[in-house]
Amino acid sequence: SNDYRVVVFGAGGVGKSSLVLRFVKGTFRESYIPTVEDTYRQVISCDKSICTLQITDTTGSHQFPAMQRLSITKGHAFILVYSISSKQSLEELRSIFEQICQIKSDVENFPIMLVGNKSDEMGNREVESSDGEAMARRWKCAFMETSAKTNHNVKELFQELLNLEKRR
Ligand code: GDP
Ligand code: MG
Repeated sequence: SNDYRVVVFGAGGVGKSSLVLRFVKGTFRESYIPTVEDTYRQVISCDKSICTLQITDTTGSHQFPAMQRLSITKGHAFILVYSISSKQSLEELRSIFEQICQIKSDVENFPIMLVGNKSDEMGNREVESSDGEAMARRWKCAFMETSAKTNHNVKELFQELLNLEKRR
């Protein structure tokens, strides 16, 4: 099928919902509204045909384990988000990364993108770009810094994920 399912994981408050809403609706809000789990569909053209990008925005660390397993099982690609202003949020990604690898152990290779969001918060930076890059090398995945607030690299993030899928 031409359905491509992307799941967005990361600690609460790192900007998962903001990235998805920026990409799907072009909007940004300053307030923090905790998410349950939401799925957005975006029709996009890829390789001269049309496919549906299905983006699941998860709750972060408060997700029910069974729901998390199901999202991973159904997902084709994963976006792991931390905030460049929180070292803790990068550390919190480790367990989800390990769970993805465990559940997807029968899949040859699946796109994962490590994303350092809030790149506009330079003054509060706790995670250097080189730290993000080093983690991505260790995890053998792609890496990008984004800002849902300024719209830096948001389109590029989803485009790159599709490119990774096509190169599989
Ligand atoms: P989630 O819990 O990961 O879904 O995080 P949200 O998308 O709800 O965002 C949490 C808070 O961070 C909100 O107050 C957002 O306005 C803010 N936020 C999200 N992305 C950015 C960003 O790129 N830069 C800045 N400065 N704030 C952001
Ligand atoms: Mg959210």
